[in-house]
Amino acid sequence: MRVTFLGTGTSHGIPVIGCHCPVCTSTDSRDKRYRSSILVEDRGSRIVVDTGYEFRLQLLRENIDHLDAVLYTHSHADHLSGIDDLRVFSQKKNMTVYSNGPTLKYIETHYSYAFDESSYPGNPHLCAVELAPLESVSIAGINVIPLPVEHGRMTHMPIYGYRFSSFAYITDCTYIPDEVFDALKGVRILAIGGLRKRPHGAHFCFQEAYDAGKRIGAETIYFTHINHETSCSEIDSLYPDAFSAYDGLRLENLE
Ligand SMILES: [Zn+2]
Ligand SMILES: [Zn+2]
Ligand SMILES: [Zn+2]
Repeated sequence: MRVTFLGTGTSHGIPVIGCHCPVCTSTDSRDKRYRSSILVEDRGSRIVVDTGYEFRLQLLRENIDHLDAVLYTHSHADHLSGIDDLRVFSQKKNMTVYSNGPTLKYIETHYSYAFDESSYPGNPHLCAVELAPLESVSIAGINVIPLPVEHGRMTHMPIYGYRFSSFAYITDCTYIPDEVFDALKGVRILAIGGLRKRPHGAHFCFQEAYDAGKRIGAETIYFTHINHETSCSEIDSLYPDAFSAYDGLRLENLE
């Protein structure tokens, strides 16, 4: 299995429009961050987690010409707004999008034309399948376990992280329930949202994300959903076994 980070930025992306801070003006290409998303590939199957604003640019950059399924973490715009570009993958058969019930309900309400069989042929044609929390499921032959976590005080916004064998991806998180920690046992590589050094109400800071990774027992931790307060190289200097993910980073030979 192979994972590619399509984007690793928080909702603003980096550079932030109009910002002249050291990170937004950095010459390190790793400090350019599209909105957060990953691509998971295994034996010819391809799944993306989230379709943010730069979804089209991300897929062009990675030369993606087919996609089997989409998993959504939650319905915030920075994770969802590229959804219309799924239309290129849904002309012959509907693309299935997976998430928890409230996220799918939001998507079906706000993009109702994508679920209307009689709609204009050029529209995306999607079907929604709800995933039960912590229940292992095979999607395009890839084993997936949905991980319900919490996103600040947004109790109306249930959010799924996802485990794929020994790799797990959790973003926009401030609380991981005990039963999810149990379901994360055996994860060796964790990609987890770490926004910045200072605490934040809706996202783990680096230390909170690191502590979660250590509790899981992950050998390597990658921070993602990062804001413009910290450069990639500074993040890499914070811990011996945790690193900044960056756009285009590939993790190969995951089991
Ligand atoms: Zn987000
Ligand atoms: Zn900036
Ligand atoms: Zn969010």
